[in-house]
Amino acid sequence: MNHQRVQELVHELIKEIGEDPEREGLKETPKRVAKAWEYLLQGYKKDATQVINGALFEQELNNMIVVRDIELYSLCEHHMLPFFGRCHIGYISRGKVLGVSKLARIVDMYARRLQIQERLTNQIATTIKDVLNAEGVGVVIEAQHLCMMMRGVEKQNSLLTTSSVLGSFRDEDSTRMEFMSLINRQR
Ligand code: ZN
Repeated sequence: MNHQRVQELVHELIKEIGEDPEREGLKETPKRVAKAWEYLLQGYKKDATQVINGALFEQELNNMIVVRDIELYSLCEHHMLPFFGRCHIGYISRGKVLGVSKLARIVDMYARRLQIQERLTNQIATTIKDVLNAEGVGVVIEAQHLCMMMRGVEKQNSLLTTSSVLGSFRDEDSTRMEFMSLINRQR
């Protein structure tokens, strides 16, 4: 992302809105917006190998591992407005597991791009499956979209839920149900 160019564009945008980009409160805004977007869209600069950085651990028992309530902040690609919520991840390994912080970083890597929730959910699931060569993976995201909450129909409390199940989570009903019951347990 070219900072200078983004600043110029935001400056233009402020003018087009009918505001004065030179007034006190807006003077530094193009710079701040460019900086904010660079942070919010840093996922483009990362890939799974780099994010995981070899931090796989051996584990003998291949039980289901479930991590709930990973915080998630993303930008919808249709309106470039935030959507945010929680991501729940479950997987059954074949001897290799990932630390919780790495799971969170995988979520961030894909969330900090322009996204739709469905694709984000799939990308997280596929990456975990591939990286761990996992027997099965399930990912559920529950999120609220500001583009729905602030405009149009203003459905303030609507929560969009998406899921992606791969391997044994897709093929075996009992495995999928175990995952769903673990993530839905009383908080
Ligand atoms: Zn949107």
